[in-house]
Amino acid sequence: MLPIARQHRIKELILEKENLKISELSKAFGVSEMTIHRDLKPLVDEGIIVKTFGGISLLHKQQVKANSDVCILCSRGIHVKMAYRLILPNNDIEVACCVHCGLLRHQQWKEENIQAICQDFIRQTTISATKSWFVTDTSVDMGCCQPQVLAFEWEEHAYKFVKGFGGHVYPFQEAMNVVLNKMNDHCSQK
Ligand SMILES: [Zn+2]
Ligand SMILES: [Zn+2]
Repeated sequence: MLPIARQHRIKELILEKENLKISELSKAFGVSEMTIHRDLKPLVDEGIIVKTFGGISLLHKQQVKANSDVCILCSRGIHVKMAYRLILPNNDIEVACCVHCGLLRHQQWKEENIQAICQDFIRQTTISATKSWFVTDTSVDMGCCQPQVLAFEWEEHAYKFVKGFGGHVYPFQEAMNVVLNKMNDHCSQK
């Protein structure tokens, strides 16, 4: 595996697990710990991860130095619990106020391979957006952008939520299309 592919995979892993051990990574990729340290260097420089004793951790939202503390799309203030973060190909991080803006922004980057993370609505863990489940048209109003979209790591949680509070469940790509269509139906974007 090429270093660049390994870095990509490590980035995915750290977004998923938040904490990783160097020794585990070395074993998983079949390379020396030295090599892993070299792979990690750019990720540390980019401010995505921090090195801890014998491992690495994903920087928590509050610690990630965002370009600004307002939404990239609508300029609302960022709430840590709702934020949707996009990691661009050059590893800059864009922050959207909520999943609604996050998905719209993500869609604007469709040609690029963008990684994104958001918060599980129930568990408040950091999840990879492309693997998440999204709920729209629910009766729970978080007071951010409309049409509102909530993110869930597990399909099962999303469906249970909908059972209680109404709404529809979509996987990533469909959720993106649904928000786009709704925006087009309603009013023009700012
Ligand atoms: Zn926004
Ligand atoms: Zn919003």
